[in-house]
Amino acid sequence: MRVLVVEDELRTAALLQRGLTEEGYAVDVAADGMAAMWHATEFGYDVVVLDVLLPDLDGFEICRRLRTRDCWAPVLMLTARDAVMDRVRGLDAGADDYLTKPFSFVELSARLRALIRRGARERPTLLQVGDLRLDPAGRRAWRGETELELSPREFALLELFLRHPGQVLTRTHILEHVWDYAYEGVSNVVDQYVAYLRRKIDPPHGVKHLETVRGAGYRLRAAAAPGSG
Ligand code: CA
Repeated sequence: MRVLVVEDELRTAALLQRGLTEEGYAVDVAADGMAAMWHATEFGYDVVVLDVLLPDLDGFEICRRLRTRDCWAPVLMLTARDAVMDRVRGLDAGADDYLTKPFSFVELSARLRALIRRGARERPTLLQVGDLRLDPAGRRAWRGETELELSPREFALLELFLRHPGQVLTRTHILEHVWDYAYEGVSNVVDQYVAYLRRKIDPPHGVKHLETVRGAGYRLRAAAAPGSG
């Protein structure tokens, strides 16, 4: 079994390399994101141990890029903080499991065995509502055959709506899921961004899909209605 360890802290990297080698793995170490991308696309790994905090690309971005480049080896993410958002971001980026630092080697080793047993993950399914489609791992979205050019925030917003078709999402709910908890910017930021997003996904395609529910919030209808193009 071949494992790629992506970690810039020398002590942790050396500990993992020694421990995993003793357990019979072939181990390669990459100390930054660019090296990780090179190794992962050059060689086939059975599993990848990926630290979140790295000098160039962070672990989330690396994971996302690996999936975009059709590298589906299981990924165990090492998160420095025991933060729910880190775990969610990791899983959204296409990681398969996570472990919070500091970790015990025994536990890491057990998690790796479980991931290897499970094998390479399947290509994630696209989110789809009507003819709106979004690929969470590849960070791409389409209306019909037309690819949408969305900012990261608009993309996150569309992803949230696609995960809750037909449901009214309140501004507070949207704010909590697309912005950080501690966001203290302008109060109508949700309305602004919903308007930006709508301008890109509805009128150019002649449909009304993302609707305002007065006094409540916003809803992506289960099916688009004809609108003025
Ligand atoms: Ca690190």
